[in-house]
Amino acid sequence: MKPVIGLTCSSEDLVNGSLNKLNDTYINAVYKGGATPIIIPILKNGEHIEDYLEIVDGIVFTGGGDVSPLYFGEDPINELGQIDYDRDLIEMALFQKAYEKGIPIFGICRGLQLLNIALGGDIYQDIYIQVPNVQGHTCMHNIQEGYHVINILEDSILYDIFKKNKLVVNSQHHQAIRKLGDNLKITARSNDGVIEAVESTNNKFVLGVQFHPEAMAVKYDEFLKPFRYFIDRCENLQQNICLLK
Ligand code: MN
Repeated sequence: MKPVIGLTCSSEDLVNGSLNKLNDTYINAVYKGGATPIIIPILKNGEHIEDYLEIVDGIVFTGGGDVSPLYFGEDPINELGQIDYDRDLIEMALFQKAYEKGIPIFGICRGLQLLNIALGGDIYQDIYIQVPNVQGHTCMHNIQEGYHVINILEDSILYDIFKKNKLVVNSQHHQAIRKLGDNLKITARSNDGVIEAVESTNNKFVLGVQFHPEAMAVKYDEFLKPFRYFIDRCENLQQNICLLK
């Protein structure tokens, strides 16, 4: 059986309820990467989290709006973007429980920031206000193309995936990691020093990237590689668990 990968989603309020929604680039990248994608909905009380953890072999924390700074003990600055209380609550609980269980985790953009906060770190609420000499990180036009360079450390998952020290990636964020969370290491930065990738230093599989490989994968197969790598790890773990049973 193919691994099942849970994908978090965002919500949009309607006059009659709200939409749970996810860009199909995530769904396609997970499917092309060799897994069965399922979307984990935002249910207000979070009781469904355990049910989904029974089903999934790995979780992709997807991109989206800003995480509430209350999760790292700050009030909002004026430049903070849109936040979604229910999504924050569900994803924080989902991360904690998945991490405890050793379910592999891949965080993309907001997902990287969320996992860093969940592990005790924090983020700049707005890099353009809070980081001196920061370059552009917010391409709004077309994120299927590269926008800036990142520098990848050789002893890292990201290097194993791309086999490159320098990689041109897209960029659509106005926030970034400030204080690193526990049991994480930085594996890539842009030329201005902004953290662009992290991974776990313990026996858990946690990978986070600030760019959007799922969007670049629409045009460039190279960017399917992080999904294949992640899904392979999920599959290996699934087989080991089966052997133990
Ligand atoms: Mn960037």
